[in-house]
Amino acid sequence: MSELQAENKKLREKLTVLTGEAEKNHTIRERSQARELELLQAESLPDLMDRMVAGLANSYGLSNVTLMLCDPHHEIRHLLMDGMDRDEDPAGIIYVDTMAALAPQFTSLSRPWLGPYNAADHQLVFPNSPHLKSVALLPLIRQNRLMGSLNFGTTDALRFTRQHGADVLAHLATIASFALENMVNRARLVRSGLTDVLTGWHNRRYLQDRLREELARARRDRLSLCCLLLDVDYFKRINDQFGHLAGDRALRELAQRIESQVRGSDMAARYGGEEFVLLLPATQVDDAVDLANRIRAAVSETPITIDQHNALTITVSIGISSCLPEEYEQDLKTVAEALLAAADVAMYKAKAAGRDCVKTADEP
Ligand code: GH3
Ligand code: MG
Ligand code: MG
Repeated sequence: MSELQAENKKLREKLTVLTGEAEKNHTIRERSQARELELLQAESLPDLMDRMVAGLANSYGLSNVTLMLCDPHHEIRHLLMDGMDRDEDPAGIIYVDTMAALAPQFTSLSRPWLGPYNAADHQLVFPNSPHLKSVALLPLIRQNRLMGSLNFGTTDALRFTRQHGADVLAHLATIASFALENMVNRARLVRSGLTDVLTGWHNRRYLQDRLREELARARRDRLSLCCLLLDVDYFKRINDQFGHLAGDRALRELAQRIESQVRGSDMAARYGGEEFVLLLPATQVDDAVDLANRIRAAVSETPITIDQHNALTITVSIGISSCLPEEYEQDLKTVAEALLAAADVAMYKAKAAGRDCVKTADEP
């Protein structure tokens, strides 16, 4: 009996340990998902770097977090400086020309490496930090290319050991690599001068070049081209009531909602402050009206988050113009201006008709 009791007790203890571990794993998974989401929600390259270095140090409770970037042409460094107010390198970021110059273990890394701190191997990754006891090095890989590494250091010798599973950190590294590549690409586009910083959409300059190209193609292929001009209704009130930052956030979300309805063949641009233009090649006016109404619904159906405490229903007024470029004698620059002007007139008709509606250039 006592043997059975002892066995039972042992089993129960084991169960308690397992339940505890399962709960711990669950918490770890939830927490790591939250950290990954933080990285994916970064709004700019400097913001992402800050979330990767200071943000992760804070949420993991680590004394040292560094981000090593392979940046032989100083491109990432300049993209990062573009987006910052300060003129100094942000803390915790180390640029190298090649990852091969590091400890040999590093270049062959394809999974996180966890283990004891060793000055000879790790001082480049953690400058002036001889006090560290254990480290985790997460290679950042995109499309088989080692872009850099995210490095965690701590004075706790038992925090990162070879015996630790690295799945959670490997997943974090995948997300971090993705976010980094995404933000670098976006910063490159912004730098090209053809992309709007707030929404990541094409800007007015790009639209003007592209519109002429699309008109030339439409003339050649004898196809019609539609132009939608969207203007947010009463946008000034949002700024007045909640401030410009909240207004910016609302604009970003508006752009995302519009984008969700746009086809790959369409071209979307931020035309001005709260005005957006869509070019729809090879599209009839009726189809353009349908799309405009779907966009209108996507914008107004659910309130847009303004800040932590407020969400507002926002509406847009949409004007539509169209043309068959082959019917025009004039040069394409003039046709382009006429197309935009007609969409603008139609948009004002939609405002006059009470807003939150769609009007075409040739209806009253
Ligand atoms: P309606 O179009 O319905 O006539 O009213 P509205 O309030 O939208 O009118 P209007 O077009 O005159 O005002 C647009 C406002 O958008 C004014 C401007 O301060 C604001 N705005 C323009 N660009 C930005 C931006 O990038 N960020 C923020 N927060 N506000 C912007
Ligand atoms: Mg406006
Ligand atoms: Mg407006």
